[in-house]
Amino acid sequence: MVQLKCVCPECKTESHHFVVYLGHVENEKVLWEIPVVETFALVLCCKCKSKFIANFTVRKSLYNEAKEVIKDLYSQKAVNLLASELSTIPEPKEPYSHPSFPHKVAKFFTKLQQEEDPVIKLGIARAVLEVALNEVGAEGKTLYEKIQDVYEKRLITASLAEWSHIVRKFGNKALHELEAETEEAKEVENFCKFFLDLLFRIPAEIEAARSES
Ligand SMILES: [Zn+2]
Repeated sequence: MVQLKCVCPECKTESHHFVVYLGHVENEKVLWEIPVVETFALVLCCKCKSKFIANFTVRKSLYNEAKEVIKDLYSQKAVNLLASELSTIPEPKEPYSHPSFPHKVAKFFTKLQQEEDPVIKLGIARAVLEVALNEVGAEGKTLYEKIQDVYEKRLITASLAEWSHIVRKFGNKALHELEAETEEAKEVENFCKFFLDLLFRIPAEIEAARSES
């Protein structure tokens, strides 16, 4: 097994991901008097299982060792490629945010997008919703009451309120039963983005357009 410590561009997990294929030597050089090679690898994320390419420089002896391990299917040896000058294709994409999002909302929404476990994702989505509602002054003890409150104050439309209740129910179900589908978690994530845009981004942009005219 050959591993490469890096950040997965898809889920941003920093870990020792699996090297599925190790490329040929593209260049040999000496770095701080140590012989190194420039190469690339096809890497499989140990968390989200997405594949990506990593370009990097590694000690020549380590490269040769890893090459041997990959060639031998039955090898029990583990090699950790300690890379320098590493970049990935694709490059890690930044989680979505907007300057109009309140700090706490942005923080939780970033966590939500980076989360791979659908149960935890739905739990965070519920928290994002509640924090966002608190920010616009929602009153009430429970999330249910807060959604109703902002709806009655005409801060959200009937369909947004309906959707918010769906997120609330998904969140509750995930937390109580510890079960969730990846697909529904992804849908809820998309809704949260839409919800935050409507609650913060669009009003801020209208305000900015108004002050310009
Ligand atoms: Zn990943």
